Amino acid sequence: MTTARFDTLLVANRGEIACRVMRTARRMGLRTVAVYSDADASARHVREADEAIRIGPAAARDSYLNVEAVVEAAQRSGAGAIHPGYGFLSENGAFVEALDAAGIVFVGPPAAAIAAMGDKSAAKARMANAGVPLVPGYHGHDQDDALLRSEADKIGYPVLLKASAGGGGKGMRVVESGADFQAALDGCRRESQAAFNDARMLIEKYLTQPRHVEVQVFCDSHGNGVYLFERDCSVQRRHQKVLEEAPAPGMTAELRREMGEAAVRAAKEIGYVGAGTVEFLLDSSQGSSQERDGAFYFMEMNTRLQVEHPVTEMITGQDLVEWQLRVAMGETLPLKQDELTISGHSFEARLYAEDPLQDFLPATGTLTRFAMDLAGAGLSSYEKGRARVRLDSGVESGDAVSMHYDPMLAKLIAHGDDRDQALATLNRALAALDVQGVVTNRAFLQRLATHPAFKAAELDTRFIERHHATLF
Ligand code: ADP
Repeated sequence: MTTARFDTLLVANRGEIACRVMRTARRMGLRTVAVYSDADASARHVREADEAIRIGPAAARDSYLNVEAVVEAAQRSGAGAIHPGYGFLSENGAFVEALDAAGIVFVGPPAAAIAAMGDKSAAKARMANAGVPLVPGYHGHDQDDALLRSEADKIGYPVLLKASAGGGGKGMRVVESGADFQAALDGCRRESQAAFNDARMLIEKYLTQPRHVEVQVFCDSHGNGVYLFERDCSVQRRHQKVLEEAPAPGMTAELRREMGEAAVRAAKEIGYVGAGTVEFLLDSSQGSSQERDGAFYFMEMNTRLQVEHPVTEMITGQDLVEWQLRVAMGETLPLKQDELTISGHSFEARLYAEDPLQDFLPATGTLTRFAMDLAGAGLSSYEKGRARVRLDSGVESGDAVSMHYDPMLAKLIAHGDDRDQALATLNRALAALDVQGVVTNRAFLQRLATHPAFKAAELDTRFIERHHATLF
């Protein structure tokens, strides 16, 4: 992996994250280069860049996922570095190797670190080595049917079968009892073979009421590593995050430090550089209320900047994209662990072009209006010099929303002195959002964010499922 100073940054992405990365790059005095597919020729990220280069037709595999076209665009524009955003090529080791070979800086981790976390079984073995707690389970090489069955019996039902090569919730199945095991194993293997060309399975104890709590870590190329605290992303629909917040409610200082230090150990174990997120399951079903937050287990590490990074920026006052760019230039981390503190609370709501009343079917069309009237909602975007509301968006009024890419339009982020105040601000900002021409999930977000159980921070990954009747 190369680090070097650069004055031109190519952003190999689209939508809100491309706009957000370029905003910081501009502030740092860098020249920005956008890439675009035919469907995005007049998209916001193209309008905002200093230079824009076409990389192919609408289909992502022919454009935003096309390694050769992206590398060529960087060479043509004289970009010294590429920021991959999230999704697309952000966790593609072959892409990083191609950039290394071309002498272009990848704003992200070394290819070897991506590979180390890409396989769930191998990653778990490495994490066990680094003393990071794992969900009780089996992640061995031996894939014999009878052995897997006896491992599942030992772990105790319910268990979760997971594809070693899996991702995006594919190749995963809960098994309630030994009698169901063989059929589930066969089904999971078939699915995994088809999706990942790899049928290896791992088995985990299935936690019935876990919270998803993830830790933001950062490492530089000089061996330093810090954690920027945690986010609670328990509110999910089909394993997709919908509402996120930082810090996670109910954390003790001790648990925060334990999880943070485990996350940094995880990153250092694999020679990590840059921004990363270590995801944990926090078991909220066991023990008395005093100790209910005691057990946390490593789930996976995402080797990129996350969609939900702004809530961390809001509570720490740091710009994580600036940190990424400085680390990629070979600088040391801007702050040490004891210089980082949490101030207040922050929420993020993901605005999707989709129809909650039609099973979240993605929606398309032209945004005849896309605006947020903060003054009308009695909100100022800044208070005491600090942002209270932030809209990270990839679109503006007049833009078209196509069916080619992820339907996320924007993220609405709110900050407050405490959780109640931040949530009240989020709700007012959601009400101030005026989107016309394309169906969105705004009303659904409002029902979630005003729900009494959410207000009371009764969080776990089945929140939406459990409150289905009052959310739709
Ligand atoms: P993927 O890589 O496919 O996203 P993950 O391993 O990250 O799969 O798991 C996705 C989601 O599945 C988690 O956010 C959590 O909600 C749920 N999950 C994963 N492992 C367990 C487990 N052992 N017990 C309960 N839920 C789990």
